[in-house]
Amino acid sequence: MVTATESQIFSLDAAGVNKPSLAGLTRDGLKNALAAAGVPDKQLRMRVGQLWGWLYAHGVTSFDQMTDVSKDLRAKLADMYSLDRPEIVSEQISVDGTRKWLLRLPKRGHEMTAPEIETVYIPESDRGTLCISSQVGCTLNCSFCHTGTQRLVRNLLPEEIAGQIMLARDRIGDWPGAERPLDGRLLPVAERKITNVVLMGMGEPLYNFDNVRDAMEVASDDAGLSLSKRRITLSTSGVVPEIARWGEESGTMLAISLHATNDALRDELVPINKKYPIAELMEACRNYPGLSNAKRITFEYVMLKGVNDSLAEARALVRLLAGIPAKINLIPFNPWPNTKYECSDWQTIERFADVVNRAGYASPVRTPRGRDILAACGQLKSESLKVRASARPEADAADPAA
Ligand code: SAH
Ligand code: SF4
Repeated sequence: MVTATESQIFSLDAAGVNKPSLAGLTRDGLKNALAAAGVPDKQLRMRVGQLWGWLYAHGVTSFDQMTDVSKDLRAKLADMYSLDRPEIVSEQISVDGTRKWLLRLPKRGHEMTAPEIETVYIPESDRGTLCISSQVGCTLNCSFCHTGTQRLVRNLLPEEIAGQIMLARDRIGDWPGAERPLDGRLLPVAERKITNVVLMGMGEPLYNFDNVRDAMEVASDDAGLSLSKRRITLSTSGVVPEIARWGEESGTMLAISLHATNDALRDELVPINKKYPIAELMEACRNYPGLSNAKRITFEYVMLKGVNDSLAEARALVRLLAGIPAKINLIPFNPWPNTKYECSDWQTIERFADVVNRAGYASPVRTPRGRDILAACGQLKSESLKVRASARPEADAADPAA
């Protein structure tokens, strides 16, 4: 459980004093915060329920809007806490409508600078997907991934993960009953823009297991943000021992960053493969709780020119996935400065996709989105620097492989 004091998002009030934010907190986090504000034990459950609705079903940004909370308590809460979201450093909007936010998080512990993360919103005709980050940087070094070149600064807290969803809803006017920022009309629930959340931003979510799990409880709670777990997907590079536990404790949809069909190549592209090779990864996938044709695992395969894009590899991919309820997502490689890789030719991707399609997989080639603003898969990287190892105990705890 995260305690109120160590888990808050801080903001500066008029007097320059840090006020912890309640936005994004779990029920336990809210309970602690309310208890610290003097709410008696026997009222805590009821008060948490009230705040929960205002925070997550309505998305209020001021305590004054919490009309069924007594004026005295509202004043007390406003005195001690804020409802701030992570701070927006910049917002970029791609020609295709994709939006990327660079967000600044509060400094914690011995951090010398405030860490920064990225969140991306991808609107499509039938859905809107929010891609959120789980860590600042990543400890793994997948050779084709921009985020991998940035060392981990720290794990995100549950409220910093759920806070990304709240901030995105604020920015695109996506709270039920909220006024649209642009034309002032009310937004009916059925018109909600963020329909899906993917943990495919910065970081390896299974290396921040508990915080990501708690944040997804906030995200999927029916009385709050109410995103169905069927519409939340966790993508992992293959932290085998945590896959079954994720299925049991959270049970969202799962995506695996596969990218190669033999260990020699996968060792090079996704180095965690040296620790958990393909056979073990496939075994963990076969055993993923709740797996069925209606709940398939997505296998992500980035198309790298001359590296993993031969037809023999397409056939090997089909063989490897035999017997697993699977979807295959072919991702055109998104370039970033100084990378040694290139994206496969379009014709090569199509031929590869043909083999996969003929084997019975409807394998959409994921159209790159937001490439012009470096918002596409694997292009995310913030300027946060690594602080001295001795000053960041939580970062090492975040990486069981360290
Ligand atoms: N760390 C997790 C989730 C974040 S990465 C993971 O690795 O699964 C989200 C997806 O983008 C992964 O499948 C990753 O392999 C892929 N990716 C990384 N860099 C990429 C790039 N430059 N082009 C295309 N996809 C990339
Ligand atoms: Fe980390 Fe995923 Fe990038 Fe690999 S692909 S370096 S695990 S963010």
